[in-house]
Amino acid sequence: MDHTPNRTQISVVVPVYFSEGTLLALSDRIHKCLLRITFGFELILVDDGSQDQSWQLIQLLSNSSTHVKGIKLSRNFGQHYAISAGCRAAKGEWVVVMDADLQDRPEEIEVLYQKALEGFPVVLASRKDRKDDFGKILSSRLFFRLLSWLTGSKFDPQVGNFGIYHRRVIQEFNRMQEPVRIFSVMIHWMGFPTAKIPVQHEARPEGKSRYTFRKRLNLALEIVLAYSDKPIRLMVKAGILLSFLSVLFGLITLIRYFLGEITVSGYSSLIISIAFFSGVLIAMLGVVGLYIGKIFESVKNRPLYVIDQTTDSEMEIDQIIE
Ligand code: UDP
Ligand code: MG
Repeated sequence: MDHTPNRTQISVVVPVYFSEGTLLALSDRIHKCLLRITFGFELILVDDGSQDQSWQLIQLLSNSSTHVKGIKLSRNFGQHYAISAGCRAAKGEWVVVMDADLQDRPEEIEVLYQKALEGFPVVLASRKDRKDDFGKILSSRLFFRLLSWLTGSKFDPQVGNFGIYHRRVIQEFNRMQEPVRIFSVMIHWMGFPTAKIPVQHEARPEGKSRYTFRKRLNLALEIVLAYSDKPIRLMVKAGILLSFLSVLFGLITLIRYFLGEITVSGYSSLIISIAFFSGVLIAMLGVVGLYIGKIFESVKNRPLYVIDQTTDSEMEIDQIIE
C-alpha cells in the first residue's frame, strides 16, 4: 500500500457518454478497488457532450469525493477524443483507461496494476468472452482483420481500451496530435513492452451502445484512410491492370476488324467500355478526394477537442498552459 501523500499513483480515465445509469455504481466500485491499492488516485470522468444527467452526476461525485475530477467537452467529439482529454489531465504515475458502462469490471484494475508492477509499461485487458451481440463481435473482428492487413501488423480483437499504461506511455500518446485517433491502435503503434491479462467482460447492464453501425463504419473508414495508403496503391494497380487489358482488348478488336469478323460497328463494346471505365475513374477520383480531405483536415491543425468546463480549476490551468 502506497501512503505517499500528495502524489497521484493511479489516474483512472473514463470517457462518459449517456452514462447516467452507471456512473454512480462505476465511481463506487472504482473507489472500493483503488482504495485497496493506494490513497493517491484520481478518477477523471470526461463527459463527451452527453444529453442526459451525466454531467450533473459528475459534478455531484466530484463534490462528494476529492478523488473525482470532471471535464466537460463542449459537444460530442467521440470516445477517443474524450480519452485524449482525460489523458492530458491525468497526473498519475499510472493511467487506467476504461469504459463507463461497466462492461469493463473496475475490480480488474488491481490485477492489471499488479502485472504492471512486474515491469510492463502497458498491461491490456483481454476479453476472452466478449459479451456483445453477434453483429458487433463480427464487425469488430472484420475491422481488426482489415486493419491488420492494411497496416501489416497484428491487432488483437479481444483487446479494447481497457488497460493500465505507464506515465511515459501516456506522455507519448499526448504528444501525438493526429486528428484521426484510436487509442488502442496508437498504443499498439508505440510498441512498448506489453502484457495481456485475461479478464471477464460483462454484458451492458443498461442503456444501449451509442456506437451505431454508421458511427462504426465511419470510424473504420477514417482509420483505413489515416493508417494506410493501401487503397491508393490498389487503385494504381487496378488502373495499370485495366489499361493493360484495354490495350489487349483493342488489339483483339483490331485483328478481328482486319479479318473482317466485325460487320456491324461495335456499339455494344463501346458503350460497355465507356460505362466501365467511367465507373472506375469516378471511384478512383473518389479515393483521391478522400485522401485530400484528410490532408485538409490535418492542415487546419485544430485542437482535438474543446473543453467547456471542469470541476477542478487546476485542471483548466493545465489545459491552457499546454
Ligand atoms: N463514448 C464516448 N463518446 C461517444 C461514444 C461512446 O465517450 O461518442 C464512451 C462511452 O461512454 C463508453 C465508451 O465510450 O464509456 C464505450 O462506448 P459504448 O459502450 O457505447 O461502446 P461499445 O462498448 O459498444 O464499444
Ligand atoms: Mg460498451
